Amino acid sequence: MTLSAEARAEGMMRLVFALRSKGITDQRLLDAFEKTPREFFLDRAFQDRAFEDIPLPIACGQTISQPSVVGLMTHALSVTPRCKVLEVGAGSGYQSAILARLARRVYAIERHRPLARQARARMEALALSTVSIVSGDGARGWPDQAPFDRILVTAAAEDPPSLLLDQLRVGGIMVLPVGQSDEIQQLLRIVKTEHGLDYQELGPVRFVPLLPDVAKDEGD
Ligand code: SAH
Repeated sequence: MTLSAEARAEGMMRLVFALRSKGITDQRLLDAFEKTPREFFLDRAFQDRAFEDIPLPIACGQTISQPSVVGLMTHALSVTPRCKVLEVGAGSGYQSAILARLARRVYAIERHRPLARQARARMEALALSTVSIVSGDGARGWPDQAPFDRILVTAAAEDPPSLLLDQLRVGGIMVLPVGQSDEIQQLLRIVKTEHGLDYQELGPVRFVPLLPDVAKDEGD
């Protein structure tokens, strides 16, 4: 089933309303959501639920985040048009596409090869040429492209990965969920200063775990 233009417009209005009611009022960010068709990042079976403010299943047993959580995290990242951003856990590519509307350049890493491939194809189809997506272990970062102005991790680690903190520029910001994978985690905003790291807790979230190495997928 493909969505009609009216269903899409109506769905997008509902989504923006849901985002606003959760306190996401930054117009640049809301514009980024409006320009990014969430249904395009979902399998057919879930496309009619694309505009609901809920997480949904994607391939490889993973999930596309809840839009208001994408909004909250992106807002906390304080992305400006000059930023070079690293995303760890590209998944469907939805968050990468939102970041692409706000930043100069986006590098994203996904440990499931089929997801990385699919997300890359979506960036191409949407002509988002400032996003690069590779498969790999994102906890190691992307040393060739470091340092980054912003780092967003969309899978939960027990502690902020030190290699990622190393690849954050002084003055840079990292947002990530921290905590045990089977529990509610705490969303952290870390600012790297000349004197060290400033931590701020932003509230409880629930993400899939940050796992080591590239995943072994069937048919890979
Ligand atoms: N940002 C995604 C949501 C991703 S869910 C979206 O917008 O759709 C978290 C993703 O992190 C999953 O796809 C999972 O496979 C990936 N992941 C977990 N550990 C990882 C690691 N070490 N490196 C890269 N990706 C990882």
